[in-house]
Amino acid sequence: MTDAPVVIVGAGAAGIGAARRLMGLGIASIVLEATARAGGRALTASGGLSRRWDHGAHWLHSAATNPLVPLARTMGATFTEEDEGPPFRLWASGRFADQAEMHRARSELERLSDAIETIAGTKRDVAVADLMAEPGPWSQLVRTVFNTLAGEDADKVSASGYGDYADWGLDWPVDSGYGALIEKLAEGLDIRLGTPVTGIREVSAGVDVVTPFGTQRARAVIVTVSTNVLSSGAIRFGPGAAADVVAGLIPDMPCGAYEKVAFELTELPGELNGIGFCTIDPGNADFAVETEVISGAVPMLITHLAGDAARTLIDRGGDALAANARACLRAAFGSGIDRQIKGHATTRWTKDPWVRGSYSHAKPGRAAARRAAIAAETGRILFAGEAFSSGWQATVHGAWQTGQDRADQIALSGWA
Ligand SMILES: Cc1cc2nc3c(=O)[nH]c(=O)nc-3n(C[C@H](O)[C@H](O)[C@H](O)COP(=O)(O)OP(=O)(O)OC[C@H]3O[C@@H](n4cnc5c(N)ncnc54)[C@H](O)[C@@H]3O)c2cc1C
Repeated sequence: MTDAPVVIVGAGAAGIGAARRLMGLGIASIVLEATARAGGRALTASGGLSRRWDHGAHWLHSAATNPLVPLARTMGATFTEEDEGPPFRLWASGRFADQAEMHRARSELERLSDAIETIAGTKRDVAVADLMAEPGPWSQLVRTVFNTLAGEDADKVSASGYGDYADWGLDWPVDSGYGALIEKLAEGLDIRLGTPVTGIREVSAGVDVVTPFGTQRARAVIVTVSTNVLSSGAIRFGPGAAADVVAGLIPDMPCGAYEKVAFELTELPGELNGIGFCTIDPGNADFAVETEVISGAVPMLITHLAGDAARTLIDRGGDALAANARACLRAAFGSGIDRQIKGHATTRWTKDPWVRGSYSHAKPGRAAARRAAIAAETGRILFAGEAFSSGWQATVHGAWQTGQDRADQIALSGWA
């Protein structure tokens, strides 16, 4: 391998953001990526269906302040600029909710988000589940919606850590694919695909990065892999501050589980005309799902499922995730939906060895550990990625910005 002053581990949003900033500053870097593609948890692919869809990230969250919005415009990405969330429907107890019930369910969600906001920044560090209302007819639906926002069950997520998220403003879906945008932003960078990093250790005035193809000496390294990859031990860190963060703090900020099943249809059920989302609670042994509605020449329903429900079905193996999703669609739209389904495809982020989950959260009682990991001084081995964003955690733009900030830090340090 050729020497470059900076090595970046991982070609997801954070790694690409870092490499682009370094390039702009005139500092050479190489990005070592374990898989055969750039993008990480942003992936636009067909998965065998006849149109491409986002397997991971899809929405430009916090669109008013999201630094990727202007870049997306420049790169020719198409996205829908919505002032409010799309119209949605709820199906539970054998029927669609009426307007009054929808209003009550929405109020319950708003009450939860107010409760999270109230304890944000305070020392009170309880699970989000502790802030939920007493179980009522819509509580399962509220949980389903929250779980897919957090990528994990409400009882496993610190409300204080979740409340660190700044700016819940606009969410704009990237119609041309968020993964496709990130892949495009990777063009022109020196990315070595199929190169898993197995070890990182600080040496005199530099860092050694170990791969199956040899050891790369760098003056500084930016590590962007997910917290579950860090905790897995796939990368062995030499003794020092970075190893202390990985051993002492990262276990408090794991990635949850969040999977999608995309169904390609001949036509959308009439009940979903003009609807963007439909939450379906079958009320039996099947798990409730959030269903994203995609219209157009190739209509799709993409079900979203997070937390233990997603883990249970993934662990069950086979096509259990898709069978659950299909059971929910049948419950809401009747068994005739089977004739409208042309094919389906399923994500497996939880089992992907280079991701191992969805995105990060702080465990209840451990929000301070997450903040400490972000603030930690780790010398020439710097961490970036969604988990290290103090106000935009769990997002693509958060990951991107941490990469850019670490690149600036390296430039200012004079190491490179
Ligand atoms: C189902 C789902 C839906 C989501 N929806 C949204 C959304 O709508 N909007 C949004 O903003 N965010 C969303 N997210 C979150 C968003 O995708 C992530 O926060 C973001 O993409 C993370 O980027 P990253 O660079 O931090 O990490 P990653 O994308 O995980 O990048 C890390 C890279 O490191 C590589 N790697 C791992 N181990 C090694 C190793 N040992 N050596 C070399 N390379 C390695 C990986 O292959 C990967 O390419 C979603 C995520 C999921 C899973």
